[in-house]
Amino acid sequence: MRKMRRKGLASMAVQTVATPTVDLGPAAALSCRECGHRVPLGPVFACEECFGPLEIAYDFSAYDTDKLRARIESGPANIWRYAPLLPVPADVADKPNLNPGWTPLVKADRLARELGVTGGLFVKDDSGNPTHSFKDRVVAQALEAARAFGFTTLSCSSTGNLAGAVGAAAARAGLRSCVFIPHDLEQGKVVMAAVYGGELVGIEGNYDDVNRFCSELIGDPAGEGWGFVNVNLRPYYAEGSKTLAYEICEQLGWKLPDQLVVPIASGSQLTKIDKGLKELIALGLVEDKPYKIFGAQAEGCSPVSAAFKAGHDVVRPQKPDTIAKSLAIGNPADGPYVLDIARRTGGAVEDVTDPQIVDAIKLLARTEGIFAETAGGVTVGVTRKLIESGALDPSLTTVVLNTGDGLKTLDAVAGTGLTATIRPNLDSFREAGLA
Ligand SMILES: *Cc1c(COP(=O)(O)O)cnc(C)c1O
Ligand SMILES: [Zn+2]
Repeated sequence: MRKMRRKGLASMAVQTVATPTVDLGPAAALSCRECGHRVPLGPVFACEECFGPLEIAYDFSAYDTDKLRARIESGPANIWRYAPLLPVPADVADKPNLNPGWTPLVKADRLARELGVTGGLFVKDDSGNPTHSFKDRVVAQALEAARAFGFTTLSCSSTGNLAGAVGAAAARAGLRSCVFIPHDLEQGKVVMAAVYGGELVGIEGNYDDVNRFCSELIGDPAGEGWGFVNVNLRPYYAEGSKTLAYEICEQLGWKLPDQLVVPIASGSQLTKIDKGLKELIALGLVEDKPYKIFGAQAEGCSPVSAAFKAGHDVVRPQKPDTIAKSLAIGNPADGPYVLDIARRTGGAVEDVTDPQIVDAIKLLARTEGIFAETAGGVTVGVTRKLIESGALDPSLTTVVLNTGDGLKTLDAVAGTGLTATIRPNLDSFREAGLA
């Protein structure tokens, strides 16, 4: 029944192209990552031939490298400077959206000294996006697809950050939103998701249960007209992560870094960062050279890391139990692709314990003044572990991603607080040993 429904959606997409009203810029078609089968642009995510995941295929053939670089450099200080490389219409920057991106690439010299990195260490700090996580980048693409396909309700299954990003983007665009999260998320994430006035539904279960429910809703008349940013709009959504790769290289002076440490939830971000780097090479915007991509997980939800270490090609699902809730996807859709990329580039996938995540959050805050959410603790903690094990070369240029804001996961560092409580006089101050 569900398979037939998906087939129905796929053929609907074919009709969309027979009457080509969809303008998503350089996006030319959807192509299957498994068998290469191409279908016209539409709200579909699975191949009608093999049920493999679909991704955007582009036509970049008209671009001249120098003109493209100049056009990007003179573009706005947000992701839309890369609009010629994204599945969005040319006038995207004029439409109401949150304009995320162009976040700082922080040269982290004090953290580098602490970790023993000599080749240059950078933190790509995405905590300053409009809803304080990298998810604004992906939602901005899905929003354009939703507009193009005429959806009026924006939805998602979320581990927390995505729900907030969808709520905010929908509010700004004047669409309805109804988003689904596990019922037991951090208060900061629940409030962030609810405050924009859309509907927020807690599901009794973990993220994988939420996701399964959303897939069912898509196949049901109750879900007609709904654009699920990370389900039926997933091919468009996923492309937003390429902008992290573009920004990192442009901020390095149009150079590839040698090593990147990227968090893994579904694995989409990591796979699209790789796609973005490959595009920059193919377009001649950066000089081709080897780079290594490392994936980071929490031990309490480490299905990809476990498969990497065991030498497996398939990812065995886990039941998540970690404070890194934004990464708590036990059955990651892009897991096998992450394994391919880590192995092909000479990287690795590693995990850290909850106490190591907390230590790493504090280390990053103490050395660089960046307060990361638990996902940032995961990447910094994994970076430290990879250096200790020798998997990551400290003499090479390394970029570590911080994808979210610590204010959303305050519980992780509960117990951090007042140094002293004193009476408002100098004697009391001296007594406390603070002089
Ligand atoms: C969603 C998320 C990620 C990565 O998610 P993928 O599903 O792997 O793309 C990373 N960090 C944070 C904070 C997130 O919310
Ligand atoms: Zn296929």
